[in-house]
Amino acid sequence: MTEKFDSVVVGAGPAGIAAAYTMAKAGLSVLVLEKGEKPGTKNMFGGVIFRHHTEKLAPEFWTTAPIERHVVEYQYWFLSKQSHVLLSHRNQKFNGQYNAFTVHRAKFDPWFAKRAEDAGAVIINRTTADNVLKENGKIVGVTTERGDVLADVVIAADGVNSMLAKQAGLRPETPEAATVLAVKEVIALPKQKIEDRFNLGPDEGVAALLVGFGPGMHAGFMYTNRDTLSVGIGVNMKDLDESKRRPNDVLEQFKAHPSIAPLIKDGELKEYSAHLIPEGGYDYVSNVSTDGMLVAGDAAMLVNAINWEGTNLAMTSGILAGETVIRAKKNGGFSSRNLSTYRQQLENSFVLKDLKKYRYIPKFFEANPHFFVEYPDMLNELFYMWHVVDDELKADRIKRMKGYLLKRRSRLSLLKDAYHMWRLFS
Ligand SMILES: Cc1cc2nc3c(=O)[nH]c(=O)nc-3n(C[C@H](O)[C@H](O)[C@H](O)COP(=O)(O)OP(=O)(O)OC[C@H]3O[C@@H](n4cnc5c(N)ncnc54)[C@H](O)[C@@H]3O)c2cc1C
Repeated sequence: MTEKFDSVVVGAGPAGIAAAYTMAKAGLSVLVLEKGEKPGTKNMFGGVIFRHHTEKLAPEFWTTAPIERHVVEYQYWFLSKQSHVLLSHRNQKFNGQYNAFTVHRAKFDPWFAKRAEDAGAVIINRTTADNVLKENGKIVGVTTERGDVLADVVIAADGVNSMLAKQAGLRPETPEAATVLAVKEVIALPKQKIEDRFNLGPDEGVAALLVGFGPGMHAGFMYTNRDTLSVGIGVNMKDLDESKRRPNDVLEQFKAHPSIAPLIKDGELKEYSAHLIPEGGYDYVSNVSTDGMLVAGDAAMLVNAINWEGTNLAMTSGILAGETVIRAKKNGGFSSRNLSTYRQQLENSFVLKDLKKYRYIPKFFEANPHFFVEYPDMLNELFYMWHVVDDELKADRIKRMKGYLLKRRSRLSLLKDAYHMWRLFS
């Protein structure tokens, strides 16, 4: 095939589909290439999609989309070897004003892609874009095993490892320190058991983030689906390399934790998958435009690791990329100057504003892994000391707790950490 489209979008994830939908709806000819058997087969995440951003592309999508549960509770677990401290927020408002939904990407992505198809985009599955096609230094399409595809603008929405962005010289190899390797299991349990164990009503769900296990920058997650749990861990690649641990061992250690094991007990393993997350933040965001090409979503490293948001950044960047192409067409040209307005659109949106706000946090945590291990452990020990009832006078206990705290971290380092956290988040 050698056809010419207004735009060829590579990747049918949230970023690619958002871009394709936006352009097709405006009457542009759009081709989406997806290497998977169908959208979603190559994708995995935690995880939740967010109402606010998904609704921009599909109003009231929860009435027809294959969603699992709407989230009513957010949990933050601080683990120690044999205990946990749990900070949790449950709100009945989330029952009326939905905020986030757990989904399986293998089900949600095809549904989402259908919206772009209905708007007029053509999606070709099982087709990998191998390389960018250049003519006089300008990108004019992509090569595939089925032939070349020509387009005025290529939108690279090909995920975290984006071959296309690298080939176009828009980003370097994915740096280890800015990348987290996540492994996840989908564990089947009867619906009622999930609701009992997590204290949920029908259709209600929990999203949980857990820290404090393992020796380095490890974070765990748990999401309740209809009749499965998504349970996984994310480990910084550099950390993994240095510790010589296997991600699967970290996941097994996590699942065996005495606070986690009862929640997944008697579950049946349905699925095991692994995926990278680009968590480097603002300083690792790629160049997002060049002559004939725009980059969206994970391909441009647009993930907000602090708030565990990715799909919304992907969808928004996809929409903005699509709108940039529409504007360029109206303004009579796809020059790099016209396309470069995309970066400004991203800078003006929450996508880069949020990442900029958190700019120094990823590096701070990388340099201070004690936030992931030592502080959760200390918190658990302090709660334990506080709750044990014996003959010790409370004044002595408080003194002992203070002593414990200062033995683990000096007064100066506690003050410094508190100051840094205040500065980073305020
Ligand atoms: C473990 C984990 C948990 C997460 N949890 C959450 C969460 O709870 N909420 C949230 O919002 N985000 C979460 N994220 C992040 C979120 O999944 C991503 O930010 C989001 O999927 C990015 O969308 P995308 O369209 O840019 O890329 P992707 O979803 O990765 O889609 C890229 C698509 O491109 C295709 N592709 C790649 N290369 C080619 C090629 N050369 N030719 C053709 N097709 C190609 C792939 O098959 C894929 O379909 C999580 C991620 C992980 C790994």
